[in-house]
Amino acid sequence: MDRIDCAVIGAGVVGLAIARALAMAGREVVILESADAIGTGTSSRNSEVIHAGIYYPQGSLKAQFCVAGKTKLYDFCAEHGVPHRRAGKLIVACTEAQIPTLHDLRAKAAENGVDLEFLDGPAARALEPNLTAVAALLSPSTGLIDSHALMLAYVGDAEQHGATLALNAPVTGGEITETGIVLEIGGPVPTTLLCDSVVNSAGLFAQKVASSIRGLASDHVPPCRYAKGSYFVLAGRSPFTHLVYPCPEEGGLGVHLTLDLAGRARFGPDVEWVDDIDYRVDPRRGDKFYAAIRTYWPALKDDALSPGYSGIRPKLGGPGTAGANPDFLINGPAQHGIKGLINLFAIESPGLTASLAIADAVLSRLSE
Ligand SMILES: Cc1cc2nc3c(=O)[nH]c(=O)nc-3n(C[C@H](O)[C@H](O)[C@H](O)COP(=O)(O)OP(=O)(O)OC[C@H]3O[C@@H](n4cnc5c(N)ncnc54)[C@H](O)[C@@H]3O)c2cc1C
Repeated sequence: MDRIDCAVIGAGVVGLAIARALAMAGREVVILESADAIGTGTSSRNSEVIHAGIYYPQGSLKAQFCVAGKTKLYDFCAEHGVPHRRAGKLIVACTEAQIPTLHDLRAKAAENGVDLEFLDGPAARALEPNLTAVAALLSPSTGLIDSHALMLAYVGDAEQHGATLALNAPVTGGEITETGIVLEIGGPVPTTLLCDSVVNSAGLFAQKVASSIRGLASDHVPPCRYAKGSYFVLAGRSPFTHLVYPCPEEGGLGVHLTLDLAGRARFGPDVEWVDDIDYRVDPRRGDKFYAAIRTYWPALKDDALSPGYSGIRPKLGGPGTAGANPDFLINGPAQHGIKGLINLFAIESPGLTASLAIADAVLSRLSE
């Protein structure tokens, strides 16, 4: 059996950022990815927004990693030529009753070190004439990013520092032994690897991978629920130049408008609790989109939206539970007592924004 230093399971944006950080720190790294390409999971099924860090409870990992990750990400994009744009975002109150929510969000953002500007209705409409809002918050540090270019830059850095990317290499099981962590790898060339360190960054399958490692007690594998988010795309020119978000709802940020770097508009994601991974977008969900979007953009025409794509959020619990909006869960030796093993659970939004900060945290936990 081959012996290696670090295995990173999963070549999504988070696994690749971790592999990069480990390789740049001089560690030997093998990235094990079950698919035949990088970034085919949640990392290519999201809003591609660089989040400011507004919504998350003070001191939470999401708050810390989003704010730190955002700054690192803007610097990284500038240095590596990753396409991005500080488009700015408006969070809108469509009724007087929603204005207190804006004040709460502004206070929460300030606790996280994020500045938001309060705009009254006319000031908001001066920025976005097509918007219907009685007030809004402007987040100047919110931006857009090309997530595929980002992942290519991460894997490029990792490989330049000696990391190996193994595609078609699904981890099917493992075992904690006296000498290290054994990983069983399926695919066309089944093999086993003895690893000093293993980082489980398998996204929607992180619990499945963790459960398959013999010697990791089942109480260190949290429950897993899926919340699907579907997007609908707008035909024609975008009516807005900023991202536009309604006030947040349970399980997600509400049906918001994001832009791609070419300026095309898409709406979503909504929240649909599902048991299976099925990325098809049900056109009937569009009916609810029209009503939600017309609260802040009444001029939306009938039939202007068509089904786009979807992504699935890994949650720790279902609707109405604390797990519906979980913090990131990063379990290392301090939690489960197994040297060299790190499991990442519930890396939902803002995982893309936070990827470089998550990578730093994993590196420092493995160096302890
Ligand atoms: C609808 C939606 C919108 C979002 N919008 C944003 C946003 O605008 N901004 C933001 O910052 N974040 C956003 N996020 C969150 C962000 O997309 C995720 O946090 C991030 O992509 C997670 O990356 P990951 O590497 O953990 O997971 P993934 O990208 O899912 O990667 C996991 C990888 O593990 C592989 N894998 C699984 N099982 C195995 C196995 N057994 N062996 C080997 N490999 C395996 C998979 O094939 C996959 O490639 C959004 C998420 C969703 C769902």
